[in-house]
Amino acid sequence: MGEVPAPRKSRRDNRKGPMIQSTVKLTPFGAVNARVNRASDLLGIKENYRRLLTTCWREVKVSLPFTDDKGEMNVYEGYRVQHNGVRGPYKGGVRFHPEVDLDEVKALASLMTWKCAIVNIPFGGAKGGINVDPSKLSERELQSLSRRFMMSVKQMVGPYKDIMAPDVGTNPKVMGWMMDAYHQVHGYSPAIVTGKPVTLGGSPDRLDATGLGVAMITRRILEERKEFLSGKSVVLQGFGNVGSFAALHLHRMSAKVVAVGDVTGVVRDANGIDVEKLMAHFEAKRTLAGFNEGEFSSREQLDVLTLPCDILVPAALGHVIHSGNMDKIKARYIIEGANGPVTPEADEYLNKQGIIVVPDILANAGGVVGSYFEWAQNIQVHSWERTTTKLELDKFMSAALAGVSSAAKKFNINYREAAFVVGVDRVYQAAVARGH
Ligand code: NAD
Repeated sequence: MGEVPAPRKSRRDNRKGPMIQSTVKLTPFGAVNARVNRASDLLGIKENYRRLLTTCWREVKVSLPFTDDKGEMNVYEGYRVQHNGVRGPYKGGVRFHPEVDLDEVKALASLMTWKCAIVNIPFGGAKGGINVDPSKLSERELQSLSRRFMMSVKQMVGPYKDIMAPDVGTNPKVMGWMMDAYHQVHGYSPAIVTGKPVTLGGSPDRLDATGLGVAMITRRILEERKEFLSGKSVVLQGFGNVGSFAALHLHRMSAKVVAVGDVTGVVRDANGIDVEKLMAHFEAKRTLAGFNEGEFSSREQLDVLTLPCDILVPAALGHVIHSGNMDKIKARYIIEGANGPVTPEADEYLNKQGIIVVPDILANAGGVVGSYFEWAQNIQVHSWERTTTKLELDKFMSAALAGVSSAAKKFNINYREAAFVVGVDRVYQAAVARGH
């Protein structure tokens, strides 16, 4: 690995207005709206339109009674929130998690509105969830609950109304069951869900779309700053869906992946890890330990986030870069593969250090673009070639970055604030054009 230059001093100390301060007192939805209000300030959006942008169009809570394998009746709570649909049908995942609550679902639905607008796909934002621990349900119970949820919201969703997708605790199998439940009422409509099994019209290219999008954004942000990805050292936290495919595509784009960490430990090789071999090893063993190249350490021995590198990709959990470790970060670029890996306090600190942070809402948007491609192919009753998907994804991600960079320059703000400016402006313009 080449010598890593010290983090640069900020060029942005003369930012206009305050940054978003610690959001400890804000609910998740309040924290997203603080960012929307900051973008609205910069765009000069009036109070009446702000109300439109910071409230949800429809919030539905459903009671989900179902019978478990022992014959006992249980009741769970389900939610579907449609935040804003001025740019197109609502789009968003369904989360199965014991701590799901309405405020969190509203925050996630709102983030989907901004994310879809930033990458300029014709969707609004939605999210759903059930307060259940799916690991405690049998497959029959899970199927029963998934079908019940779809039947409870069937009138408010549809291929041109609201399209669901997998999220935390759900997967293609759950989408297949939900699609079938919808078909029983409305007939053949594969575009009602994305991320479904390939045999039901799911896109094989959706699997790596988020990780590939992360790699594409990384390449483009470097190019924009007259740097090249070739030979740049990369460290990733997370080797699941996002992390493994981001690592693979960065490796194929000639970056040098020098460390990968996950819940099982950290693999390091200063000469560069052969990511294809590491993926094959992980596929066989389900752990990073025992890989026969590089050096292995436990998570307790080594914090992968603090390793020196050009590019750090946190692609595991939220809030992993925080006030306790932010001053140990040695990367020049942080590309947020995970959702919310950097706390607001750490974000402010990193910005002051001149470290470039590409926010989740842009960096991991390849996933929703991949879902849009699946939906579009279902609507067309046609399958695209892999090369078409890759070219299209690159086109959308590059255009999104160009829009965000231009807003960052225009308002002299960081990429996170600029991403919200782009998203909020597009939704606002669509609302005005509709005569709202
Ligand atoms: P995943 O479950 O496939 O992978 C999670 C990874 O995190 C695993 O490698 C796991 O070992 C690792 N991990 C868990 N705990 C850890 C710890 N304490 N220390 C280090 N590593 C740890 O999940 P994913 O789909 O790859 O999602 C990762 C993140 O990206 C999440 O924040 C998710 O919300 C976000 N995201 C995912 C997608 C997508 O399409 N999958 C899209 C947008 C955002």
